[in-house]
Amino acid sequence: MNARLQSWLGDQIQTLKDQNLYKVPKILETAAGGRVRMNGKEVVNLASNNYLGLANHPNVVAAAHEAIDRWGVGAGAVRWIGGTMSVHEELEERLAKFKHTEAVLVFTGGFTANSGTIPAVVTDKDVIISDELNHASIIDGVRLSAAKYKKSEGYVYPHKDMEALEKILQNTQSFEKRMIITDGVFSMDGDIAPLPTIVELAEKYDAFVMVDDAHASGVLGKNGAGSTSHFNLYGRVDIQLGTLSKALGVVGGYIAGSAVLKDWLINRGRPYLFSTAHPPMVAAALIAALDVMENDPEPMRRLWDNTRWWKAALNEAGFDTMGSETPITPVYVGDEGKAQEMERALWEEGVYALAIVFPTVGRGKARIRTMPSAAHTQADLEFALQAFKRVRDRLS
Ligand code: PMP
Repeated sequence: MNARLQSWLGDQIQTLKDQNLYKVPKILETAAGGRVRMNGKEVVNLASNNYLGLANHPNVVAAAHEAIDRWGVGAGAVRWIGGTMSVHEELEERLAKFKHTEAVLVFTGGFTANSGTIPAVVTDKDVIISDELNHASIIDGVRLSAAKYKKSEGYVYPHKDMEALEKILQNTQSFEKRMIITDGVFSMDGDIAPLPTIVELAEKYDAFVMVDDAHASGVLGKNGAGSTSHFNLYGRVDIQLGTLSKALGVVGGYIAGSAVLKDWLINRGRPYLFSTAHPPMVAAALIAALDVMENDPEPMRRLWDNTRWWKAALNEAGFDTMGSETPITPVYVGDEGKAQEMERALWEEGVYALAIVFPTVGRGKARIRTMPSAAHTQADLEFALQAFKRVRDRLS
């Protein structure tokens, strides 16, 4: 390797290590369930987004097997060039029905759905108005766009601050189009965006709304149809992003909205235009996952029973869950070093949960992020609770 590059990379990595920001992934040796083997150790897994346990649901796995037998394992091309199979089309039709929108376009990830869609729907005559806690893939999509968006120029509002949002809307009337963009469920805090107010303000000031429902998909709304369904805002959210990688258990992202929006993204969404389609087994598995979500209320019921129990038990034991309203349950720690120590101590106790530290969250706002799911048993959560208590007592 080029010596300058080699030494630059080495320096960067050392800096990350010095700042306690260096990441080493742990390796799963079993399916992504509630109790897993990881790095050779049996642990309760509180770090998976497999909210409904669909990643290893027998019907979903069987559908993937059948699709491999019929279609093989690759799509062979970008969607518009020859990589669209009827199974991709079927998935989009199913998702559009599920979301009650005219159309859905699937991307290979939620990240690419954000980074491909946002720049495609705005120009240099437009402004994007964002919640300060929006996900990294929204931020990257916004940065790729030609619109105005910067915090330093006043286009980012404090988290969920609707008065601040209204002020920005009053001050930006000279732009051609105005886009308000928010997470539906915030990925590090687990709270829900005030979507009804956002939609009302957008309607009052003639702006449009995009919501990222990555963590609301399969979690909120009818059969897990997301935050638009949860708040009964059908037809009033212009662009809905969902992920197929978390509760739906496979991989991918989609944009639900009007037929003309889909048409435009087929022509101008760069990850759609330039990246190979999903393997057909992915689409087939996702159709089977939707079948489960639409016909079996049990996984969602278990997810919410576990979520309610876990939050109440943590709160009763004196932990601060930071106002979380969804399965994403942060346990507030504050200090970065202490959060990392807690992560290590939990691992020793047989619990896998990640410390989330700066820059993913603000300085001094470190937390352990936990996610109960339908795949956890009561015994798993009890075990994890006792571990949290022991670790707290030990470290304090
Ligand atoms: N948006 C949010 C809010 C997310 O949390 C994530 C996943 N971390 C994504 C988008 C990206 O989704 P995917 O994993 O499907 O690329």
